[in-house]
Amino acid sequence: MARFSILENVSLILLINLVILMLTNAIITTHHPCSAFHASTEISNNLVCDNVTLTLASTDFGLTIHEKPLAVLEPTSITEISELIKVSNSLSTPFTIAARGQAHSVHGQAMAREGIVVNMTHLNGYRHGKGVVIFRDEKDPWNSYADVGGEQVWSDVLNAALEYGLTPLSWTDNLFTSVGGTLVNAGVGGQTFKFGPQIANVYELDVITGKGVLVTCSAKRKSKLFYGVLGGLGQFGIITRARIALGPAYTKVKSLRLLYSDFSAYSKDQEYLISLNGRNDNAFDAVEGFLMINQWPNIISFFPTQDLPRINSLLAQHNILYVLELAKYYDNSTQDQIDQDVERLVTGLKYVPTFKYEKDVLYQNFLHSSENPGQGLPGGPQSWLDIFVPGSRISDINEGVFNNIIFKQNLTANGIILAFPMNRTKWNDKMSVAIPDEQVFYLVSVLQEATYDTLKTFDEQKNQILEFCKDSGIGIKQYLPRNKTHEEWIQHFGSKWQNFKDTKNKFDPKRILAPGQGIFN
Ligand code: FAD
Repeated sequence: MARFSILENVSLILLINLVILMLTNAIITTHHPCSAFHASTEISNNLVCDNVTLTLASTDFGLTIHEKPLAVLEPTSITEISELIKVSNSLSTPFTIAARGQAHSVHGQAMAREGIVVNMTHLNGYRHGKGVVIFRDEKDPWNSYADVGGEQVWSDVLNAALEYGLTPLSWTDNLFTSVGGTLVNAGVGGQTFKFGPQIANVYELDVITGKGVLVTCSAKRKSKLFYGVLGGLGQFGIITRARIALGPAYTKVKSLRLLYSDFSAYSKDQEYLISLNGRNDNAFDAVEGFLMINQWPNIISFFPTQDLPRINSLLAQHNILYVLELAKYYDNSTQDQIDQDVERLVTGLKYVPTFKYEKDVLYQNFLHSSENPGQGLPGGPQSWLDIFVPGSRISDINEGVFNNIIFKQNLTANGIILAFPMNRTKWNDKMSVAIPDEQVFYLVSVLQEATYDTLKTFDEQKNQILEFCKDSGIGIKQYLPRNKTHEEWIQHFGSKWQNFKDTKNKFDPKRILAPGQGIFN
């Protein structure tokens, strides 16, 4: 009975409806609405609680956490979401509500045990194909923007913008996540050093707060909510619209990979390259990097087959290779000079001579060519750890984590280990996201696919990495944080915690939203 304890105190009518829900849930296995609440007919009609829907809502990309909700709302309007939240608020024991974008979380963040999951993708029908609306400023394309439904995926934003010769400026490595789902985290990738994370490229938001009120907010209007929501792990409201900054799009990309055997040379070169970060600088447009420890198939595909033996022998000599990934955008008007520009930019970099690889690709193909798996569910459970590391301690991570933990343990896995820096000046400190207190900090991501037999070993490795960072006093901040105790959350947000808590009290005082993050529930 614990499963239904959240509704212990509800009125008789709700109790009766609840019994109906239990029966419905037990009997029905096909897609079927359920009347769990004394709410408007629209909500009741769109609350679904058949087993297939509930099982899907209790699964995410990680394939490790499964929290079953009571029902899933498949909203056909924004108003329904707001009404649902109001119904919860009206109860003496409110139920929790989680927005679910693309469920690309790996630790159950979009789940709501014994609560309601809102399947945001259903808003697509409500938008009638107008989920992304582009505003192009003809005089200055840099002032252009897109009004985007929170449920839209980034690849659709890209396609819509490209039709106007425009593009969002900052990307993640995966374009199949929802706009709302990334904006409550940060959204980081190769362009972050230059334009900041995706949350730094938002002009305005429509948010349904934890009280069920629809609010339009920006840096100038209701700014507490605006900054709170950006990087706020879904705690203060559900994003139904985001105004995303756009700029002129290029058509092609010179994509490069330079191999390093020396970590210090790799990180110095990366930090030099991200110091050239003005919009008009003659600089690279994307700077990322990853490690080569095993010959993971998705990593080697960029390199010419005939070169694999010599790359392998370099790897055998050094144990770990560091691959600097660079990109320079161009179009027909700059095509003639792109090779010289790139040559000038790489001159003086300390990669292993002759281990430089280049490709010319279409802009959209470049954005889609991430090393990460893309759509749908992965083949096995994911063991992921993402941390932001202060720049001054990145060599300790190389020694203590890459060499002494990951290389030594030699666990075979599909996946990738990323390590690349970004500039703190491109982040706005008013936003909720927690980052290290240094001008340059790195994203280090250890993303591995395990099997159900090996998952524990992989997760233990992640815990060892965290312990190493703690024991060595490396002031890391977790990105896409894993479950934490209340004390750990306070520590995670640090000086931002008091404001984070105040914002929660103001906009979601009954602690209804995003329970899967495990912060207040
Ligand atoms: P979900 O998993 O559905 O939800 C995540 C959280 O956001 C939940 O708490 C949910 O309740 C909340 N939420 C969802 N929609 C809304 C909304 N509209 N309003 C308010 N809250 C909402 N991240 C990066 O920064 N850079 C990367 O390069 C990157 N690469 C990735 C590659 C892969 C293969 C995967 C699986 C993930 C990657 N991520 C990356 C992480 C990803 O950005 C986050 O997991 C993101 O939250 C996924 O978006 P989603 O739509 O799937 O969110």
